[in-house]
Amino acid sequence: MKNSKQEKKSTTSKTYYCPHCQKPLMKGDVKRLNMACPYCHKLIDAKGDELLNQGTARIS
Ligand SMILES: [Zn+2]
Repeated sequence: MKNSKQEKKSTTSKTYYCPHCQKPLMKGDVKRLNMACPYCHKLIDAKGDELLNQGTARIS
């Protein structure tokens, strides 16, 4: 039986927020988000970095 060491997984889990309703969409680490918001059902197509901070992106 092999005794393989498990390497540490990088726990860079970020929280992404919907730019429309500011609700938390998901956690993880993605470069781009292309999905419909489960709360307001609007389409989100943005870089992950732009959705990290709640309230920075304002789309009216
Ligand atoms: Zn939303």
